[in-house]
Amino acid sequence: MFNTLNIGKMFGIPVKIHWTFWLLGLVITFDAWQENQSMYVVGFSLALIILVFGCVVLHEFGHALTARKFGVGTQDILLTPIGGIARMMGNLRTPTAELLVAIAGPMVNVVIALLLYLILEFGNIPTDISDSEISSLGSFSVLLLKYLFYINKMLVLFNMIPAFPMDGGRVLRALLGYAFNLKTATNIARWVSLVCCAGFVLYGLYYGQYTLAIIGLFIFSAAQQEYRSLENEEKITKTTLIKLADYRVQKVEKNQPMYLVLNQNLEQPYIVESEGKFWGILSPKKLKEAKVANDIYGTVEDYAQSLSVEMCVEADKTIADIPVDILQFYGEKTDGIIPIKDINGQVNGIIVTEIQPQFG
Ligand SMILES: [Zn+2]
Repeated sequence: MFNTLNIGKMFGIPVKIHWTFWLLGLVITFDAWQENQSMYVVGFSLALIILVFGCVVLHEFGHALTARKFGVGTQDILLTPIGGIARMMGNLRTPTAELLVAIAGPMVNVVIALLLYLILEFGNIPTDISDSEISSLGSFSVLLLKYLFYINKMLVLFNMIPAFPMDGGRVLRALLGYAFNLKTATNIARWVSLVCCAGFVLYGLYYGQYTLAIIGLFIFSAAQQEYRSLENEEKITKTTLIKLADYRVQKVEKNQPMYLVLNQNLEQPYIVESEGKFWGILSPKKLKEAKVANDIYGTVEDYAQSLSVEMCVEADKTIADIPVDILQFYGEKTDGIIPIKDINGQVNGIIVTEIQPQFG
């Protein structure tokens, strides 16, 4: 609850800041204080960070808004000290969709860099940053523009390194996707990523840039994770829902007061009934909302999502049989919890679908 701060919504997508992000400001201020630097330098560094993260947010919106064109929503955009993450709700399963969504992020930085280049060019200001300018801090705004230009350029170059699951790696997988199936394409992208990440680690250790070495490790472990979950998913998609569903899920009547469910484990969803008949789903996210609002006398109906039995998925189907728009519907309405009905139309079980890929 306290680990992220909601700073607002753009295009209907919440933008959040991870708590570790504030450490960055602290580290800069501390560094400057230790090196006896002026408040001017501290102010400059903080202003630059805010502007850079503005560019990172726009980069993430490049991914998010392109994904929306392919019918995939974004749960939120999260800012961390090592960059932004757009958490998607659903899969981009065609190579073209993944290619365009992946490339849209860096393209935003290309546009920003181009605009900054034009501004500097029209002002007859050279784009390179001289040492004397850094020591005297030149003109505050001119130096900011130059740094922003340089950083956006670096963001494009770094992001396009084919280290899956970074943007360049996703582009590579998408291109491989035209020739191979998803699993093979991901596997090849994972090996290319290993080579790139090994490069980051060795370079980082050799030149004392330990952050780069750590980032290398992070990226490769993310690549491994994505490959593993793909393998798992493949196994799971072939299993019928009756074997996958959770039938121990508890039921609650829609007119019951919330305190009945708020005393229980807030991580477990409920099947909501009306006079013993299926009525809808109460998700853990909604439970937590009620907990935060301390709405113990509200009714279950106030927080649950009503659904018709027709919208529930049959137990003899597999996940692969569920149409993408249905998965997306449940991703938005019940936080990925899908009610499962048996042959008699009774709803006694649920499955939880994961929120899928993350774009950095
Ligand atoms: Zn990106």
